[in-house]
Amino acid sequence: MIKEENVLAALSHVEEPDLKKDLVTLNMIKDVVVNGSDIKFTVVLTTPACPLKEVIRQRCMDALHEHLGKDITVDIHMSAEVTSIRNNSPQLPGVKNIIAISSGKGGVGKSTVTANLAIALKNSGAKVGIIDADIFGPSIPLMFGAEDVQPLITQKDGKNMIHPVNQFGIKMISIGFLTPKDNAVVWRGPMASQALRQFLGDVDWGDLDYLLIDLPPGTSDIHLSLVQTVPVTGAVVVTTPQKVALADATKGLAMFKQPQINVPILGIIENMAYFTPEELPENKYYIFGKDGGKELAQKFAVPLLGEIPIVQGIREGGDEGRPVMMDENSISAEAFKEAAENLAQQLAIRNAAQPATERVQVA
Ligand code: ADP
Repeated sequence: MIKEENVLAALSHVEEPDLKKDLVTLNMIKDVVVNGSDIKFTVVLTTPACPLKEVIRQRCMDALHEHLGKDITVDIHMSAEVTSIRNNSPQLPGVKNIIAISSGKGGVGKSTVTANLAIALKNSGAKVGIIDADIFGPSIPLMFGAEDVQPLITQKDGKNMIHPVNQFGIKMISIGFLTPKDNAVVWRGPMASQALRQFLGDVDWGDLDYLLIDLPPGTSDIHLSLVQTVPVTGAVVVTTPQKVALADATKGLAMFKQPQINVPILGIIENMAYFTPEELPENKYYIFGKDGGKELAQKFAVPLLGEIPIVQGIREGGDEGRPVMMDENSISAEAFKEAAENLAQQLAIRNAAQPATERVQVA
């Protein structure tokens, strides 16, 4: 007769491909029910966007058949619990992972990538938020068709609490929601940093798996304010394959790697990797050069999370306030989905293998 312990013993032969330990040791097997030769259990993955979901399911099947025989029926339920190393953090206690999205220079598509990654992660089943920290050029409200939305502000213990705007299932905040449109606010550095601190401290974020921070291009006071205010789980650098963009991206990577900042780099996303006409997706034109992102990733020994093509629909989606990822069947959506899965995967590996990031102390 098959018992629960036999099922667990069989599954202890299945290794989580990224974390290099078996599923039982990693506590990923839950709710085992055995009824004669019917076996039922849940595999709790480290992210709902896990690209290896089907591989893990198949390996469980194979291990059970190998160790318990062929005459069994197996029903595997796949669920996910996003991991976090931010336990007991006083800042943003309900937020599991804080991800900085940066670029060396403007116009490489950092906000476009942030918006589409957010939707791809949300579509996988995760709870996602965006802070538009590009205070000098906020574009998240426009990209989400939320330019005229105003966040609700309530009082809590005599303090103003800002409620994030919820658009397409993503919680978001931007200076664009709080200042009148077409108003030429001239921001001084310290005011911009203050705005970011408010977004981190005075916004009711609730529970989130991933909070994406769309940073201004380059390296700025805002970057320093971010790493001084909260421990950032990891950073993503967006670049185009062009030489000038790569040179600037290198500076961005070096900044996060500085010993006093020490934010793990989750990977590089190469945007505008090649032009492709939507009706002829097999035609690829490398108009900004080829493999620049890949070479940069190799040089810094970090993963290349994705290569996003230049597609008219991506630009239109941004301008029309409906990111291209909202239509899951396009080639652009496929590229963003893959990048989001790779990002979630790298984050899970980072959480399993590296200690928590320390908040940078002001000297
Ligand atoms: P950044 O945030 O780096 O300044 P944006 O995300 O605002 O850049 O993008 C700049 C412009 O390029 C926008 O008009 C956007 O729609 C367009 N864009 C970005 N990525 C792509 C892409 N992969 N294909 C087509 N247009 C893109």
